[in-house]
Amino acid sequence: MASEFDLIARHFKWPAPAGVLGVGDDCALLLPVASDRRLAVTTDLLIEGRHFLPDADPEALGHKALAVNVSDLAAMGATPIGCVLGLSVPRADHAWLERFARGFRTLADAVGCPLVGGDTTRSLQGTVISVTAMGEVPAGAALTRAAARPGDDIWITGTLGAAHMALEVLQGRERATPDVLAALRPFLDRPEPPVAFGAHLIGIAHAAIDISDGLQQDLGHVLRASGCGAEIDYASLPVHPALEGFAAASVQRAVLNGGDVYQLCFTASAAMRQRITELAGRHGVRVSRVGTITQEGGLRVTACPVPLSPDDPAGFDHFG
Ligand code: ADP
Ligand code: MG
Repeated sequence: MASEFDLIARHFKWPAPAGVLGVGDDCALLLPVASDRRLAVTTDLLIEGRHFLPDADPEALGHKALAVNVSDLAAMGATPIGCVLGLSVPRADHAWLERFARGFRTLADAVGCPLVGGDTTRSLQGTVISVTAMGEVPAGAALTRAAARPGDDIWITGTLGAAHMALEVLQGRERATPDVLAALRPFLDRPEPPVAFGAHLIGIAHAAIDISDGLQQDLGHVLRASGCGAEIDYASLPVHPALEGFAAASVQRAVLNGGDVYQLCFTASAAMRQRITELAGRHGVRVSRVGTITQEGGLRVTACPVPLSPDDPAGFDHFG
């Protein structure tokens, strides 16, 4: 790309934090992580046609490319340090790049995850976005998937179902009024993972995961890693209010199996209820207590509006 260096300087060269060498040299130079802390690293790839459509709003795309990564940091209880961006685009479309960079940067500033480097190439076909985010977490205290204990409460931040239902409507599998779609769509386009709240769960929560592939699937990962099971009360799940007018079976599928949520599912002992509620209040995060970790394996969801059968591939028990 003839204008590769101009392109980077124009769109992606932002001031680096004090003591950090950011965009512009062969490597970024970051501050060391203290010996009693660990470096948390995560990466996600977004591919045109698979993860987003060619006409996706570039600002929302910039936001989401970073959001899906800081969501993983939040799910470990890590505090963001910085990120790098690999960008492969078919041409130097400055209007597109400017909006993409604005969406990315607005979230980076909001969650304190500065862009410190990357790589930019011309693609043969379509846009590919690869973001790697780094954070830090106290050694031995990260919210791993393996840390759930029988008797723990199960909590969820935010609401469920909106992002999935937005996609169903946009792809013509469900119908909704423009008002309802307008209420659902921000959850698909601009997920807002609770990053600072996640970091404050260190010492309070045991296990955590971010919901990217659906509650059943992602909680299933926690149960498998922790060697226990869970009971969820469907009536306690935080269904997004804009799902009200859809058929019961569609809502239930969106709530239990809908992905792209980028909120946390975490476990904590019952003794922590008040601290969690207060912490959530301080961070403006909605939390719902939805069930209990059990010794016996498998995931049971009680009081479902539409009965789950053991044969349901996305239902009753993923690994029983
Ligand atoms: P090199 O050839 O040494 O890898 P590049 O020319 O690829 O360096 O990049 C020059 C500088 O711009 C580096 O500091 C790199 O990290 C940064 N950079 C390149 N592309 C991006 C991008 N999309 N976002 C942020 N920084 C970028
Ligand atoms: Mg390079």
